[in-house]
Amino acid sequence: MTPPRIVVIGGGAGGLELATRLGNKLGRKNRAHITLVDRNHTHIWKPLLHEVATGTLDVEIDQLSYRAHAASHGFDFQLGQFTGLDRHNHTVTLAAIASGDGEQLLPERQLSYDYLVIAIGSISNHFNTPGVAEHCIFLDSPGQAHRFQRRLLDAYLKLNSPEHPKDKLNIAIVGGGATGVELAAELYHAAAELNLYGFADLRSERLNIRLVEAGPRILPALPERIASAAHKELQKLGVDVRVNTRVTAADSHGLQLGNEHLDAELMVWAAGIKAPDFMQQLAGLESNRINQLLVGPTLQSSRDPDIYVLGDCAACPLAEGKWVPPRAQSAHQMASLVAHNLIATINQKPLREFQYKDHGSLISLSRFGTVGSLMGNLVGGAMMIEGRIARLAYISLYRMHQVALHGWLKMLVISLVARINRIVRPRLKLH
Ligand SMILES: Cc1cc2nc3c(=O)[nH]c(=O)nc-3n(C[C@H](O)[C@H](O)[C@H](O)COP(=O)(O)OP(=O)(O)OC[C@H]3O[C@@H](n4cnc5c(N)ncnc54)[C@H](O)[C@@H]3O)c2cc1C
Repeated sequence: MTPPRIVVIGGGAGGLELATRLGNKLGRKNRAHITLVDRNHTHIWKPLLHEVATGTLDVEIDQLSYRAHAASHGFDFQLGQFTGLDRHNHTVTLAAIASGDGEQLLPERQLSYDYLVIAIGSISNHFNTPGVAEHCIFLDSPGQAHRFQRRLLDAYLKLNSPEHPKDKLNIAIVGGGATGVELAAELYHAAAELNLYGFADLRSERLNIRLVEAGPRILPALPERIASAAHKELQKLGVDVRVNTRVTAADSHGLQLGNEHLDAELMVWAAGIKAPDFMQQLAGLESNRINQLLVGPTLQSSRDPDIYVLGDCAACPLAEGKWVPPRAQSAHQMASLVAHNLIATINQKPLREFQYKDHGSLISLSRFGTVGSLMGNLVGGAMMIEGRIARLAYISLYRMHQVALHGWLKMLVISLVARINRIVRPRLKLH
């Protein structure tokens, strides 16, 4: 009997963990043929993108090659952009691939599956605000984070020159969620680090960072006390935090906030997410208003049991009209359940239902501190944490992702290499 074909689309926080687990458990024993598809050659954990954007993390060191990882974990990797689905014929469509100078390398292709997992994450939602798509930068992919880092370095270069001794760099960040807050703090950290590398005139007073939030407070998903601690910490750094402020448009010189124009040379939009637009009409699958695909308790799509959906692109109901939040811990937990259910299907065992466990949220204010809350059985309810313990817990989120991919031993080696790199390499990506 030919082994069933499992195709996982999207090698992010959830999809890569799933493909790794399925490859280890089924692929290596030839009990299933696993294929991971991603539009990029390499994986970088998305919660690190604000560090890529400021240059405090060098992707050349932290990224993982899908092809190399697949070869040692019993699955195949296919480079490709998922564009369509034919549920009747059980195929997915991958767009043609072109080289940098436009030569077609591979034509559009179809890939057959017996079981499909869609894990393509989310993109920023600009709610059709005029000018935002053209003028703001989004932190949805490593490519976009790099673009921001290049523009930031260019701006710093200009600021550091004797011709502009009094200029300030205006940066506006829209969205007071975790991404916006973490990015604001990281920008001060990066500027301080640049001081060490010849940018002597780049003092934090020359940074004008505004964090604009439409709601009454930043970090709406976190308890009030945490949000207010983070707010104070940002203000201490020098961030101008504006709550109850709605962006009505963006142009090449800044943001329109109702009647006020906020000048900014760099603008980042981090206010809300949605699944990619093509998911809204994907082969008759049921979607919600932000294009996420609806799933049942087993994480199978509501209209097709052969298709699972996980992570940010899944609409998974919780009690009281709430939804599983778009977070790395949700993607991680969903990947574990989908792995269990696919293995159970092959072993003709019953499927399990998804139980989301909120382990709390942590916000890193770069080297200036970490605040957050831990929840769940471990601490018998919700517990606020700050400082060093919070920082350790924050780092451990990424370490858990690395353990899921590499196992404990390799994770420890990778952490050690990262520590050594901090000694032997510049602390910041400088080009
Ligand atoms: C700057 C930032 C900071 C964050 N910080 C935190 C945090 O501290 N804690 C937390 O819990 N969450 C955080 N998040 C959210 C977290 O990153 C996401 O919830 C999580 O990554 C979702 O996992 P996923 O597997 O659904 O998607 P992703 O991790 O986004 O992976 C999606 C994958 O699909 C691929 N892909 C996309 N479209 C296609 C396509 N059409 N064809 C082929 N491949 C495709 C992408 O290349 C990517 O590899 C942060 C997000 C950002 C942007």
